[in-house]
Amino acid sequence: DQVRRKYVQGGRLGEGTYAIVYSGHLVSDPSTLVAIKKIKVNAEYKDGLAMDAVREVKHLQELSHPNIIKLHAVFSTRDQNLNLVLEHLPLGDLETLWRNKDVSYGPADIKAWAGMLARAVWFCHENFVLHRDIKGNNLLIAADGSVKLADFGLARSFADPYTKMSCNVITRFYRPPELLYGTRHYGGAVDVWSMGVVIAELALREFFLPSETEIEQLDRIAEVFGSPTEENWPGVSKLDNYVPAAKENLKRPQPLMYWKQRFGMLGDEGIDLIRYMCKLDPRSRATARQVLEHPYWMAAPRPTPKEKLPRNA
Ligand code: ADP
Repeated sequence: DQVRRKYVQGGRLGEGTYAIVYSGHLVSDPSTLVAIKKIKVNAEYKDGLAMDAVREVKHLQELSHPNIIKLHAVFSTRDQNLNLVLEHLPLGDLETLWRNKDVSYGPADIKAWAGMLARAVWFCHENFVLHRDIKGNNLLIAADGSVKLADFGLARSFADPYTKMSCNVITRFYRPPELLYGTRHYGGAVDVWSMGVVIAELALREFFLPSETEIEQLDRIAEVFGSPTEENWPGVSKLDNYVPAAKENLKRPQPLMYWKQRFGMLGDEGIDLIRYMCKLDPRSRATARQVLEHPYWMAAPRPTPKEKLPRNA
């Protein structure tokens, strides 16, 4: 209650699957804007949702980084609803940005956004937190132009690699093949795959791997990266949901020409990086550290300074 009294709740900012978000400000300083995220507690799912909410809280409170949304406080109300007081980020997200045809941007802007995302993911992994729901829609834009990773509802510490984890995580378009095949032992590589898909979408200005079902998602992946086999991914055939492709349906990975045609604006280094982030075999995939060490960041053009980045009107 003491915590709740520190904030004044204002108008509604938006609504998501699990929460309604209101604007607000500090009682002591009305110029400090916040977003108050009220987690919807449906009786049926009460336990599960409360769990997700608590996870969001735990992980966010521990992580302090310029590209990760700041959690100011947490409080509950009489009805047991959980309220997260978050940094106010009113300028939309990276998906609304690439969808917005009134906004034009180029390779230097993409490199700046990608760099902020890569540093946020690296920081999570250094602190043994998996985000598990990286997508353009969860990358919110701050007033100073920086991008911040939000929505830690599914984040989970991966300090213990032997604990079985749920494979039904990550919005389908961003879900890596190992999760689609039902693996329960996974690590930071799942976030790196999602990050590769997000960067590809920034370049394409459309969804990179859209699908209607999980089976179709695996088809989309195979059409670009080739059908997963024991040759390109040792051990894949042992995963629960793996179905080997019939010989006549075996897909070859797209040639370099495909990448140059679709992703030319990322340059050769950028193309190399997204292919490294989206290796089928999670053990061959770049780690967040390897992403940051990639020559793409040093190649021309230099990333746009955050103050000069294009933004939603
Ligand atoms: P979802 O992730 O399902 O889109 P959220 O519950 O995270 O939904 O947020 C719902 C909406 O509330 C967002 O689309 C956005 O418009 C708004 N919103 C969320 N977080 C913030 C924030 N920190 N600052 C400003 N607006 C926000």
